[in-house]
Amino acid sequence: MNFQLTKEQADIQKAAREFAEGEFDKEQIYKYEQESAFPFEIWKKACELGFVGTRFPEEVGGQGYGVLENALVIEEFCRKDSGVGLAFSCQLPGAELVALYGNREQKEKYVAPFLRGEKYFSIALTEPDHGCDVRTLSTVALKKGTEYLINGNKTFISYGTFADFNPVFCQTDPKAGFGGQTVIMVEKDRPGYETLHIPDKMGARMMPSAQLFFRDVKVPEENRIGEENKGFQLFMGTMVASRVEMAAQTLGMAQGAFDRALDYAKTREQFGKPLSSLEVIQFKLAEMAILVEAARGLTYKAAWCFDHGMGDHKLTSTAKVFASEAALRVTDEAMRIFGGYGYFLENDVERFYRDARAHVFLEGTTEVQKMIIANAILR
Ligand SMILES: Cc1cc2nc3c(=O)[nH]c(=O)nc-3n(C[C@H](O)[C@H](O)[C@H](O)COP(=O)(O)OP(=O)(O)OC[C@H]3O[C@@H](n4cnc5c(N)ncnc54)[C@H](O)[C@@H]3O)c2cc1C
Repeated sequence: MNFQLTKEQADIQKAAREFAEGEFDKEQIYKYEQESAFPFEIWKKACELGFVGTRFPEEVGGQGYGVLENALVIEEFCRKDSGVGLAFSCQLPGAELVALYGNREQKEKYVAPFLRGEKYFSIALTEPDHGCDVRTLSTVALKKGTEYLINGNKTFISYGTFADFNPVFCQTDPKAGFGGQTVIMVEKDRPGYETLHIPDKMGARMMPSAQLFFRDVKVPEENRIGEENKGFQLFMGTMVASRVEMAAQTLGMAQGAFDRALDYAKTREQFGKPLSSLEVIQFKLAEMAILVEAARGLTYKAAWCFDHGMGDHKLTSTAKVFASEAALRVTDEAMRIFGGYGYFLENDVERFYRDARAHVFLEGTTEVQKMIIANAILR
């Protein structure tokens, strides 16, 4: 068992760190945060330098690396800035689904321009009445000749306000539950397709949320991704790696909040000495360091296992739950160490806390992950 990164992995990690240091400009980021805007300019540079395509195949313009290398990039981005890192990483699952299950034409049409920074993805599963319970969806696609006719609506869809490509989970066989769902690509200019921004979110502000409405939206059958009625398998097949990348996001956020709290504790003086000389603060820092280290171990293990053909929902969900819950505790403790200063935007830690909070819902709540883990244990 070797716990060291390879030279190539260490180089990728360093390159991602240097990119984030150089390009994540604080003033510009506050503007994005306050306007709930996606950081398009930084994203395009990240695409040009190949960070976005880290784990996409070379034939569609990616770098051809694995989940571990991608996790290293995501961790560094989220460590430097929770909002930018989150907004970047959550762009990936829709494109990953097409890269995994789309045909050659679909990969060229959808994934290649995405990796060039020209087009954007969402992934649309959640509905107003179907959050954790997606056994039967209300968004229905009826096959009419060579077209699908889609009716229904989705909610909480990240990037829905501007995404060009929207893989939409539709019920194609209403009686078959999970076994009757199909993924259909809806482009943003399809007649009958509309979106509505959902404002005032606690965190994840650079990843705007939207409701999507489908009113008799006609889509040609060549927009179907994968086989008909296999949509749920496609979703789970995408999640086994994507949830590891979610874990990497919260790992990076926890590390970033820890870094800031450590620096602050060394420099802030009260009662004539630095906070870091107080045992209670030292214990907080030690507990935070334990959580970060354990989250890193689980995240890297889940990534490595996936890359070595041992992708496993139980391990993925374990990493996601542990890292996201650890990030909540670490970001909370970081705010406490900052005292009142931690409550203000300029010290970052309150934003790290707000952004980390989204991960107990994103790509399946903590409770849903525990259901997956329990099912695997009790099988
Ligand atoms: C910032 C943000 C971005 C998102 N982006 C997207 C996106 O891009 N695409 C997309 O499709 N969705 C997206 N979502 C939706 C997200 O996946 C859902 O919020 C999540 O699946 C939970 O659904 P719900 O909110 O309807 O909660 P509900 O299903 O109503 O659940 C409410 C609570 O009950 C618990 N619960 C429900 N059922 C059970 C059960 N059987 N056992 C135990 N506990 C249970 C849940 O864990 C939760 O705590 C996003 C959500 C957020 C907050």
